[in-house]
Amino acid sequence: MKLPEDLSPDYRFLAIIGHPVSHSLSPLMHNSAFQALGLPYLYAMYDIEPEGLSKAVQDLKSLGFVGYNVTIPHKQAIIQHLDGVDETAKAIRAVNTVSISNNKSLGYNTDVLGIVRALEPLKNRIASQPVLVLGAGGAARAAVFALQRLVNATEITIAARSKERGASILADFKIKSGKIVSFAPAEINSVVSRCSLIVNATPVGMHPLVDDSPLSDNAPLIGGHIVFDLIYRPLETKLLRLAKKAGATAVGGLEILIQQGAAAFEIWTGKKMPLDTVRVVLEKELKTP
Ligand code: NAP
Repeated sequence: MKLPEDLSPDYRFLAIIGHPVSHSLSPLMHNSAFQALGLPYLYAMYDIEPEGLSKAVQDLKSLGFVGYNVTIPHKQAIIQHLDGVDETAKAIRAVNTVSISNNKSLGYNTDVLGIVRALEPLKNRIASQPVLVLGAGGAARAAVFALQRLVNATEITIAARSKERGASILADFKIKSGKIVSFAPAEINSVVSRCSLIVNATPVGMHPLVDDSPLSDNAPLIGGHIVFDLIYRPLETKLLRLAKKAGATAVGGLEILIQQGAAAFEIWTGKKMPLDTVRVVLEKELKTP
């Protein structure tokens, strides 16, 4: 790991670590925000394989970084390498933001806040409604936690390839009227018919496999559904296109990216991220072929 060269010693460094990580828009988002506010921070990107995670955490500390984001596949594995985590990250067992101060690395989960803020405008339509969450990884855990916090959601079905991972979400979040289903259309479609909100927390449909969808073309989507896809590249996934065709409300992952980033930005700098500036920059980037 090397620091960017030719910079004034006043600069503070941040980064994102993941594998793969080259698709991440976090460097563009944060650097645009630092530039807009005239803050002396630089946000870099490091591709770190799982076996290099422990060393990377030490290097980021010894090189004087003030913090970093963590993405796939390190969000859960990183916890054991940190000096502590906040209550939310502890409950979810996943960290996406680390702040380093006084030689201590502290983990946070700002994905939850990102999801809460992105779903807030739809709160009244979601309250007391059954929910289907697709996937059982870190983002699915953050989505379940966010839904409990936002609308006290209780009727939650998890679609998971691994029944154990799905069941651990139901157990960890004490969801009594929860269920696990597979992705087989015959099984999942009956849940789609009964729920109001569908959250895609799998990477299915993400660039470059943009013709994939976690729900089949004949999923029984209707106008009353809200379909929320955490993927932001592409801006409109195949799942969101299916939802729109059925007249449903379709929400993409860009707002979560911005809101989780804004919460991390505030942890690191104590300042509000200029949301409108960042939204324009990211939309332009995502619309560029
Ligand atoms: P993760 O921890 O790796 O979990 C991914 C989940 O998706 C796992 O449960 C995995 O199943 C499941 N999955 C993967 N491929 C699948 C397939 N072909 N069919 C069915 N299930 C499949 O990843 P994550 O951190 O939760 O992220 C999930 C997605 O959310 C990613 O696309 C990520 O980019 C997106 N995300 C977006 C934001 C944002 O800011 N917009 C924030 C966080 C996450 P197994 O358990 O069987 O492996």
